[in-house]
Amino acid sequence: MQRTFLSALIALAAAAPIAAQTPRPSAPITDVRYEITADSASVGRHQLGVSMTFRVNGTAPVILALPAWSPGHYVLIWFARRVSQFTPEQNGAPLAWKKLDYQTWEITPRSAGTVQLSFRYLADAVDRAVAWTAPNFAFFNGTNVFLYPVGRGFNWPAQVTVRTEPSWRIATGMDPAPGTNSFRASNYHDLTDHPFYVGRFAFDSTQVAGKWIRLAFYPAASLTTARRDRTFSWLQKIFSAHIAVFGEAPFRNYTVFQRSDTLVNGGGLEHQASQVDEVHVSQLDAGYLPGLYSHEAFHAWNVKRLRPADMVPYRYDDAQPTTWLWVSEGVTDYYGELGTIRGGITDSLAFFNGIGGFIAQTAGAPGIAVSDASLSPWISPTDGSGGLYYPKGALIGFLLDIMIREGSNNRSSLDHVMRTLYNETYKRGRGFTSADWWGEVGRAAGGKSFTEFARRYVDGREPLPTDSVMRLAGMQSRSDTLREPRLGISTATDTGGLSVTGVSSGGAASAAGLRVGDRIISLGDVTITNDDSFGTFRERYTGTALTTLPLVIRRGTETITLQLPVRLFSRTVTVVTSIPGAPEKAVRIRNGIMKGTTQ
Ligand SMILES: [Zn+2]
Repeated sequence: MQRTFLSALIALAAAAPIAAQTPRPSAPITDVRYEITADSASVGRHQLGVSMTFRVNGTAPVILALPAWSPGHYVLIWFARRVSQFTPEQNGAPLAWKKLDYQTWEITPRSAGTVQLSFRYLADAVDRAVAWTAPNFAFFNGTNVFLYPVGRGFNWPAQVTVRTEPSWRIATGMDPAPGTNSFRASNYHDLTDHPFYVGRFAFDSTQVAGKWIRLAFYPAASLTTARRDRTFSWLQKIFSAHIAVFGEAPFRNYTVFQRSDTLVNGGGLEHQASQVDEVHVSQLDAGYLPGLYSHEAFHAWNVKRLRPADMVPYRYDDAQPTTWLWVSEGVTDYYGELGTIRGGITDSLAFFNGIGGFIAQTAGAPGIAVSDASLSPWISPTDGSGGLYYPKGALIGFLLDIMIREGSNNRSSLDHVMRTLYNETYKRGRGFTSADWWGEVGRAAGGKSFTEFARRYVDGREPLPTDSVMRLAGMQSRSDTLREPRLGISTATDTGGLSVTGVSSGGAASAAGLRVGDRIISLGDVTITNDDSFGTFRERYTGTALTTLPLVIRRGTETITLQLPVRLFSRTVTVVTSIPGAPEKAVRIRNGIMKGTTQ
């Protein structure tokens, strides 16, 4: 996942009830089929119709459950709370059933043969992990709707058929199966890890390294020709960089599912052959998008396949904490940056800014061990360490990369560690352990021990040795406190320009008399055309001695000039730069990191 805003997750987590006892195993079921109805009638009710059929060999109770969470989204959501009209039948006659806990149903068959059950699923969420609908559209993820038999493992095949309008299209990474709109998965993990878009949306594809890379954008108008070409160009570069790390693309095809409206919070959720992104309409051309795509794409290897042993195999009934999210998410954030610079989308300045961001965010957070912070997303901690495993894990990944290159005279790198662990653990059907990780880091660094490093900086709370390690790559950092002007507004961009969607009471804009619906034309001498213009504005007036600035707006048909009181707020920025005249080895290490090379 990449978090842009955590508030939605926190709200969901707060509603989580107490975990259930594990119920007894279900009777075996075979020939499992699901049917999802997403036609205009069902999506008009913000519902999906779900049916499941399977065969039983007797009358022993069948115990079925829905997942409590979706892998990648480390929050208990309890998908069962969205189920209604649960109806099991055999030969058209209702079967006896009861709930064993809030996510588990017990059904008693009357005889051997086929059981059919159906339910309605409420699909109205603004959340990357939960089904939602629009009048001509449905999104769902398998964890939302596919019941599994309790205590029977997850290695059983299943088929999915989607019932929809004849003119609507379907996008999923799941393998096609015989029959109209039918798909199949060989086990439950795969079944629940291929999201679906159904309805009217933009869909396009291109080839990268012999694999189809596809865009599924909702609404269709969000994928203009220019955005399509630009996004494909980014994905070409990002996937080429990531494939170079691991030596292969482990998916048949890969889909970027993207929802853009005014409701979404922003961010992405990874799957084994796709990513589900939410991009606010005002951000459709924002500079952070390549980084988002790069982060989520890297997850196709790191966490979807190469994964801590604590999360192999996934369990779906309860939280599955690990001390290693700093590798699964933080190191992925580091490679999110590497994917864009190695692909040539961004330059060294952007990479340095990215590293500066990791340093600043880590410095601004409480001194919590990153392995402890990794455990916490399940409980939405209130100590300020929520999500710390992203920047601190990214920074540690960066420092390890430098130390490995230093120890091996730049003949090895963090890339080698990732690739070796991918081959030695994931490909051998297991997760990586602490011994795997630190053993491989040490070997890559020419036999150096990282026991002390892990004890002090990963499992311990000592400040990271950022300056001394960065020097080995000819890099340095400096923290500055800026006094920037802030307005206290939220905005959205559309074809008419930038409009105000919210004004905080007590803020500078509120004092100037700005109202929701106003369109901002200029601020001081800065013309405002989109969200990025505010960055220009802040830079232009950082530390200014002016007390007011003209704020030109359009209100209806009128053009009005308001007087904006200048209110400055402190912000600490970390600036990363090259050390002039750094030794040749340090320069080789720095270039190797940014180019993805060893020499
Ligand atoms: Zn992530």
